[in-house]
Amino acid sequence: RGYQSVALILGVTGIVGNSLAEILPLSDTPGGPWKVYGVARRSRPSWNEDHPVEYIQCDISSTVETQSKLSKLTDVTHIFYVTWASKSTEEENCEINGLMFRNVLQAVIPNAANLRHVCLQTGAKQYVGPFELFGKIEAHDSPFTEDLPRSRFPNFYHTLEDVMFEEVAKKEGVTWSVHRPGVIFGFSPYSLMNMIVTISVYAAICKHEGVPLIFRGSKEAWNSYSIASDADLIAEHEIWACVDPNAQNEAFNIQNGDLFKWKHLWTILAEEFGIEKYGFEEGESSVTFAEKMKDKGPVWEEIVRENQLLPNKLEQVGGWWFADFVFSIPGSVLCLNKSKEHGFLGFRNSKKSFVSWIDKMKAYKVVP
Ligand code: NDP
Repeated sequence: RGYQSVALILGVTGIVGNSLAEILPLSDTPGGPWKVYGVARRSRPSWNEDHPVEYIQCDISSTVETQSKLSKLTDVTHIFYVTWASKSTEEENCEINGLMFRNVLQAVIPNAANLRHVCLQTGAKQYVGPFELFGKIEAHDSPFTEDLPRSRFPNFYHTLEDVMFEEVAKKEGVTWSVHRPGVIFGFSPYSLMNMIVTISVYAAICKHEGVPLIFRGSKEAWNSYSIASDADLIAEHEIWACVDPNAQNEAFNIQNGDLFKWKHLWTILAEEFGIEKYGFEEGESSVTFAEKMKDKGPVWEEIVRENQLLPNKLEQVGGWWFADFVFSIPGSVLCLNKSKEHGFLGFRNSKKSFVSWIDKMKAYKVVP
């Protein structure tokens, strides 16, 4: 079969990786027909198996393993880097994430003669700094535009960009793009940060125990305008950047293009899980998810057993630290003008996006 393009997805079971794996092989995807390779460490989960992707198990933090497994992929034309590692300090994040990305680029770039483009996904922390410094350093004022200067504090997103600039410069004709989403609405139960999986698991536990679905976070987060980035939309944005010359060698924000309030999505969440009492409650809402959910492992196991769900442990699907972070701060906005001016007009209705991912998780037995 004659392929027009050959994709290598790093993080193929992640929140955006899984969307790329679904969308790239479709017959009407721009730049296609696409052949697709996908990399992750764990064995292939059932929910990823329908996608026509050559699955490669490889730990890209190992230089030796990455060289041996990825240098063979000489037909790759496009790299989609949608993965990361989380360590306890940002200095460590810079080190490990820089190493992982360099390992991949040094295995692929010298060997893939037809390599044309590298897509790097980072995010809004480009503008506000890493989790650990949030609120401690002066962040830029939202709406964030792509031309805002970097802060002087360590940030692994800056390391990733610098690694890419350095490695891509070694080969003539290879272009790049950087994609900066906000909180992602998507499917993967293997993601380090999946807001929808996390709050759906929380809702399932509330339903099971017959208690109200209390919003856990600040009143500001409950009431303020927020944005989200749909995982399929991000995949479309990354594919656009691969094929449109206007998009190359540029960084772009990407979000759904509308605004919502968490208090409105919370009503939908309650409906989706059949819970009648829900909302913000002074005092109780300031108790974190991490605190409230710390002993719920056995309850979750019971829910999994009773509903024949996929055997995911609570610590894997309950990303409490992430929800606690997002709901502790007022929403901020990523400006979309640059993306639109360069020709990307895609959008999502955030409420519909929210519902569709919850429904997909139910269909795949991630939540009841
Ligand atoms: P995910 O956490 O959803 O997915 C990570 C993927 O990479 C999984 O497939 C995982 O599978 C794989 N992986 C992890 N470590 C390795 C490794 N050492 N070798 C090979 N594969 C590995 O990724 P995201 O899409 O969330 O993250 C990509 C970028 O997007 C990050 O920079 C993140 O900060 C940013 N971002 C994410 C947001 C979100 O809401 N999720 C919001 C805004 C930005 P396995 O574990 O089996 O290896």
